[in-house]
Amino acid sequence: MWVKKEVADLINKHGTNEPVELCDILGILLISWDMHEDMNGIYKYLRRNKLIYYNNRLPEHRVRFVIAHELAHAILHPNSNAAYLRNTSWTMLSKAEKQAHEFATYLLIHGINRSDYETKKNLLRAIGIPMEMERFI
Ligand SMILES: [Zn+2]
Repeated sequence: MWVKKEVADLINKHGTNEPVELCDILGILLISWDMHEDMNGIYKYLRRNKLIYYNNRLPEHRVRFVIAHELAHAILHPNSNAAYLRNTSWTMLSKAEKQAHEFATYLLIHGINRSDYETKKNLLRAIGIPMEMERFI
């Protein structure tokens, strides 16, 4: 529940739920990087700088969620480093990774009218959120 509140506070404070805009406002450096295809993105804390790297091979419709996920680390776990891998099973994910997924999901569904979508899956697909996140909505 506290993750949901963090998201609501962030949106209220800055007036947007766009991950790229939020990075800009918060001074988080966003870097498109040539990574192995198994990597989605990385959050790094380096000499007091917050850096988000995302894989430049990601298809367009997946970039926003990956940035939202890494932004979650910058806010919830600012002093840690974290890598977001593709195809990791849910049970293998650390608590921090699950929290980042939860945060990213709430951030991106903000302002969406659920009744516009017949199913949760349709909603997730329309916003570009991975299907595993259905558990959060
Ligand atoms: Zn992560």
